[in-house]
Amino acid sequence: MSENAAVQELDGVWRITCPFAAGSQVMAYFIAAPQPAIIDTGVSASPRAVIGPALAAAGLDLADTRFILNTHGHWDHMGGNEALRGIASGAQVVAHPAEERFFHDIATHTRSYRDLVAELPAFAALATAYTGQFADNIGLPTQVDVWLTAEQEIDLGGGIVLQAIHLPGHAHGLVGYWWPERRLLFTGDGVQGLGSQVGSFPLVFASAADYRASIARIIELEPAALCMGHNFLDREGRQAAVRRGPAATRFLRESLEITEHVAEVVGAAATAAPDYPFEEIARAALAVLCETYPLQLDPATGLHLRALFLLQAIWRELRSQ
Ligand SMILES: [Zn+2]
Repeated sequence: MSENAAVQELDGVWRITCPFAAGSQVMAYFIAAPQPAIIDTGVSASPRAVIGPALAAAGLDLADTRFILNTHGHWDHMGGNEALRGIASGAQVVAHPAEERFFHDIATHTRSYRDLVAELPAFAALATAYTGQFADNIGLPTQVDVWLTAEQEIDLGGGIVLQAIHLPGHAHGLVGYWWPERRLLFTGDGVQGLGSQVGSFPLVFASAADYRASIARIIELEPAALCMGHNFLDREGRQAAVRRGPAATRFLRESLEITEHVAEVVGAAATAAPDYPFEEIARAALAVLCETYPLQLDPATGLHLRALFLLQAIWRELRSQ
């Protein structure tokens, strides 16, 4: 079986692994309902090069897609929207209104990186390398047909009705898609454990407090399965995009504990040195967090670019209190 073959995770639910950038992967999920839906579309090349062929090998046709359900507006999740609209011309694109600019404006995709570099000039070159990938991987601008309202339902026919659940934190307009009968939640990047890359932390761009509250909200739903946007790591170093039963429950609890712990450590570092700039607070906090987590810090700076987004979100919230 090819690495990018469609994997049937549950009856009628197919996961397709879409490669992008240098060794990264993002998941698209296809629901083979009377009105078929896809959750996230990968990057611009994914629909034609990966998702379409993978579904065809499973006897499914990507052109039948009626709903393109975006979990959020980040380039690795919506970059394939425009290509997919070209294949499935009858499909409606669905997203949360807080993500609107991501669908129209390339600059929105680079903002988090530019903001971080403004506080940490040492990462300017690295951030430029990251942001350079974006333009090639997103079909922009791309139309959104349905802007979600709170808890909106999406009827896929055959009694399959998904409910959109607002789960801000990683992005302001991140939504999960909840399938109540299956107790199945598609989470995008709404819950991440230790993140998708070894040696780092979850990526939290919008709000660390919202990220924790959203995980608490997912825990209350008591999902039987999580279908996530990447192969996220747990504390034991296991990588998986789909977790079921006790493994899903444990992953949610761990994800919450990790961010609570990081918030405590950043809070202590900021209290100890209230006038220090973010870079010094981050360095002090990471030195403490290294004792608990397998962080791979850059030897030159004592920092880690991807780990800094969570710390920065926490630090900003502390300063605004
Ligand atoms: Zn994202």
